[in-house]
Amino acid sequence: MNKDSVLILVTNDDGIRSSGIRILAQALADLGRVVVVAPDRNRSAVGHALTLEHPLRAEEIKPDVFAVDGTPTDCVNLGIYGLLRETPDLVVSGINRGSNLGDDITYSGTVCAAMEASLMGLPAFAVSLDSLKFQADDLALAAKFSRQLAETVLCDGLPPDTFLNVNIPAGGCRGVRLTRQGKRQYGDAVVTSQDPRGRKYYWIGGGEVGFQSIPGSDCNALHDQLISVTPLHTNLTNDKSLAELACWPLDSMLGEV
Ligand code: MN
Repeated sequence: MNKDSVLILVTNDDGIRSSGIRILAQALADLGRVVVVAPDRNRSAVGHALTLEHPLRAEEIKPDVFAVDGTPTDCVNLGIYGLLRETPDLVVSGINRGSNLGDDITYSGTVCAAMEASLMGLPAFAVSLDSLKFQADDLALAAKFSRQLAETVLCDGLPPDTFLNVNIPAGGCRGVRLTRQGKRQYGDAVVTSQDPRGRKYYWIGGGEVGFQSIPGSDCNALHDQLISVTPLHTNLTNDKSLAELACWPLDSMLGEV
């Protein structure tokens, strides 16, 4: 790996002002040139959203740091097709404030930014820290692990059609596990209350978040204070169901053609 020619694109969904992205960019800086392209505000839980209905602006707030008024997926697109003259060797998304485990990944802008890069054929991973508090020790561990993982991916690459979802435990780490995507239990996800003017409001995501205990899963790894590394791909086909649904009379649902 020739450090002088390495280009790393860094993004997130917490926004350009998040300490997580700053620490991540710093940690990767000794591996090559790091360009940050991130949303200009918090865009958490926008999933894989792409902005098609209005133009996007990118402001270079300092050299190689761009704030974009779009989604994390927009940032990856703009970074690769608009702002950088060369294709990055690696795309890293994070460090996210809060874990992205199990079904969370379908909502996560952090994970979907890595997914977008992977769809473009680039090696990519997402990093999330299992705490909203963002303690310095935990962030330092997340940054250090991200740097080591980035070096490995730059040297060895990733298997085809694969990106990584990395989650870092907070408050101490007992090791690293290769995991599979687990299963979230979201509980009562909508909180109902009244605003100061007496009008009712609803707030999604206020409920307790739990998980099903599945040995080998990302959720279990974090519960056991282990770093979780999950290889993901974008194909959501349920192969088992293909066989089970093969007997459905789908043609007859069409009626006479
Ligand atoms: Mn976020």
